[in-house]
Amino acid sequence: MSGNSDGKGKLDTYRDKRDVSQSGEPAFDGDGGGTASDDSPIFVIQKHDASSLHYDIRLEVGGVLKSWALPKGPSTDPSEKRLAIMTEDHPRDYADFEGVIPEGEYGAGTVLIWDRGCYRNITEKDDGLRPMEDALEEGHALVWLEGEKISGGYAFQRIDKDDDQWLLIKMDDEAADARRNPVSTELKSVASGRDLDDIRDEEQVD
Ligand code: MN
Repeated sequence: MSGNSDGKGKLDTYRDKRDVSQSGEPAFDGDGGGTASDDSPIFVIQKHDASSLHYDIRLEVGGVLKSWALPKGPSTDPSEKRLAIMTEDHPRDYADFEGVIPEGEYGAGTVLIWDRGCYRNITEKDDGLRPMEDALEEGHALVWLEGEKISGGYAFQRIDKDDDQWLLIKMDDEAADARRNPVSTELKSVASGRDLDDIRDEEQVD
């Protein structure tokens, strides 16, 4: 952890890793991007066809998007533990990013807004609601997602302290469904209706 408490410090790594003038990704605009929405924070899951295909799940926390890469995407089956590798905080505006990151840029490849919506922190500790920042710092956070494809409770569980490897686990609630496999059956963007090929065809940059 960087120890920075303001949005600017949290996004230093995001800025350092990429040249947004070349990549087409949202610029760091000084306040984390967009308007903070403390009452109904957002989440997004972006399908990212980079050097290896993966999904990125991002939760709005404290004005930025806390981010994890999911090599296999999210599951709706509570018996499946999906690896989630914590990556750098992203600006809030990144939730609206869909397009092609050109060759030679960090994360080069196609980004598709696979799911999005609002979420609620449901992490309880000592009979109270644990703030998200504290829950993540402690390596255990429960969220209730209200997406178009993915909904209900999910647990983010850090595997080892001082490591960036977490597990994302569907909680056993009414939205759990071991027979669904949305990662393989629901291919289109919830923002544009396009699949990866459509985005590549329409937005390829030379
Ligand atoms: Mn990614």
